[in-house]
Amino acid sequence: MVLADLGRRINSAVADVSKANVVDESVISGLLKEICNALLESDVNVKLVSRLRNKLKATIDAQDKPGVNKKKLIQKAVFDELCDLVDCHQSEIFKPKKKQTNVVMFVGLQGAGKTTSCTKLAVYYQRRGFKVGLVCADTFRAGAFDQLKQNATKSKIPYYGSYTETDPVKVAFDGVEKFKKEKFEIIIVDTSGRHRQEAELFEEMVQIGEAVKPNQTIMVLDASIGQAAEAQSKAFKESSNFGAIILTKLDGHAKGGGAISAVAATETPIAFIGTGEHVHDLETFSPRQFISKLLG
Ligand code: GDP
Repeated sequence: MVLADLGRRINSAVADVSKANVVDESVISGLLKEICNALLESDVNVKLVSRLRNKLKATIDAQDKPGVNKKKLIQKAVFDELCDLVDCHQSEIFKPKKKQTNVVMFVGLQGAGKTTSCTKLAVYYQRRGFKVGLVCADTFRAGAFDQLKQNATKSKIPYYGSYTETDPVKVAFDGVEKFKKEKFEIIIVDTSGRHRQEAELFEEMVQIGEAVKPNQTIMVLDASIGQAAEAQSKAFKESSNFGAIILTKLDGHAKGGGAISAVAATETPIAFIGTGEHVHDLETFSPRQFISKLLG
């Protein structure tokens, strides 16, 4: 089920409660069942769904006292629990500082939207007065440097890369050093997405991380990736210990639940969401705003 349908289905389950003459155990149990089925069909991890169900039931039971408007209570409890699902309660999201060098390393699978998101983030900070540079450390995929160069040129962002150097660690290091010398404030390092063997990719992330010592590492995750998101995100977490996530392609027909589960599994906040292919299609993420929008 795509995200928009998930929102509609949860809304309609809550509306059914509002329409009921008496909100008894069977109405509440029907609501819980419908919400859980909708979440499962959207690829949200079964353990998370079960936890949400228990918490939701416990909140409703605990707060259901004489004089309390039960329908309102249920509405609020559903909203709060959905927020909790996408909120890992870590407010420590990277805040780059002016007049300092902030190195930001991007990791993620090929096709997730890394190169696109690198440019989006560069533009985001450039518009806020930072001096931003982009480094292409993807020497694996032919055309990766050209893609970054094209995006960067269009957005007037200085860039660094190499057509001849095959060692991504060296390119990353040289690029960061160059921009550091030129007093750039944010240096964004784009990395490779896939290798012949995954182990090699994760080893490469460790090495690039050691070479450029990022102040922040961001994992780019495709919202439509499904259940596979969790294992991949955990592997990236181990190799690069990313501290923030950019969830991409939320404008499309993403189920979203797999990615949401991955976010919960890595206990890492979503910093931004990608809402289109255009360079300005990047929004800061707020759990409450996201759920409000989901529920329309
Ligand atoms: P990379 O391999 O991870 O560097 O991925 P790219 O940046 O090359 O993106 C892969 C494809 O996804 C491209 O066609 C992008 O235009 C597209 N893309 C990236 N972010 C978004 C997004 O937020 N929304 C949509 N609709 N497309 C996106």
